[in-house]
Amino acid sequence: MPAPSGDWVTPARLSGIEQELASVLRTSDDVLVFQAEAVALLEAVARSIARPGIPCLNLVSGPYGRGFGIWLEQFGAEVISLEVPYDSAVAANAVEEALTQRTDIEVVALVHAESVTGTSNPVREIGPIAHERGAVVVVDAVASIGGTPLETDEWALDINVGAPHKCLGGSPGVSFASVSERAWELVRGNPAAPRDSFLSLLDWKEHWLDSDRSSVPGTPNVAEMVSLAAALDRIRSEGLDHVIARHELVARALRAGIVGLGLEPWAAEESAAATCVTTLRIPRDVPEVDFRGRAALYGAEVASGHDEMAGSLRIDHMGAGAQPSEVLTQLAALGQALLDHGHTVDVGAGVQAAATVVAAG
Ligand SMILES: *Cc1c(COP(=O)(O)O)cnc(C)c1O
Repeated sequence: MPAPSGDWVTPARLSGIEQELASVLRTSDDVLVFQAEAVALLEAVARSIARPGIPCLNLVSGPYGRGFGIWLEQFGAEVISLEVPYDSAVAANAVEEALTQRTDIEVVALVHAESVTGTSNPVREIGPIAHERGAVVVVDAVASIGGTPLETDEWALDINVGAPHKCLGGSPGVSFASVSERAWELVRGNPAAPRDSFLSLLDWKEHWLDSDRSSVPGTPNVAEMVSLAAALDRIRSEGLDHVIARHELVARALRAGIVGLGLEPWAAEESAAATCVTTLRIPRDVPEVDFRGRAALYGAEVASGHDEMAGSLRIDHMGAGAQPSEVLTQLAALGQALLDHGHTVDVGAGVQAAATVVAAG
């Protein structure tokens, strides 16, 4: 294929990408494409909503949630933090209680799937509760979109941030978000919201979305846009529901296999487990350091956790990596690496438990 020319990103192509993203986000709200990785867009969102003193309820169940709260604070918001241990999810009734205690809260921010902890928050329940209390609901769905059901409109999510390179199987470097009318009102009412800035959501709204999408603002990176469009094509041809089901099946099978091996999943409740990565506790008698290398020798890529995640192992299964057929290899490799370290596990039982889940679909 010849390299696309420098003017590949025409208004029609960019509008088409936005439409595809809107259907993946399941929204009729504005969708904007951001020319940088998701952490930059999340910072832009935090700056856009945080005016001095605005009361924000920030849910923390992992490092991305904690980081968003730090930004809100930096930009002058009053942050009320609702925090749970990193192996758990924030319960919807805890959010309801916090909103009853502080009826002046204007923003509720949360992460859907935390890709470091392998946990997931019940956005489906929290969104409508927070929205009904008048809050602007801000969700970091970077690691969940494409891996688990996500209904922006139905769940009343006002700002929903995603990226192509996790469960959607695209490449990193760009990100996107839906923005509801309620969210735009909040941003417009914030005198500190970025203007004439790369981080300005309002500039994008004015110069592109509200200007008949007639001329593409800035200088989009052609390679990234071509790659994003290609990822969306692949999603469309596989079918979003199928992509989601594949991630769910892999997560369920891997978890069953881990239990079958006699190991302990990190997320205590299955309902709190994410579908993008699976985390587990390393048995205390296993030296973590050389364990990774041993697992890699047999074909399992595992990452060990630090800080709050110390003593945990993570297995990623996002995008093209979410294949039921790979679960059995990973479990066999994990099991054999543990056996090599003198830890007793039943490798066959682990593989069989996962296979049973895969077979049932
Ligand atoms: C990966 C991730 C991000 C950051 O996305 P980048 O595009 O890599 O900056 C943000 N939030 C969550 C939950 C993630 O998993």
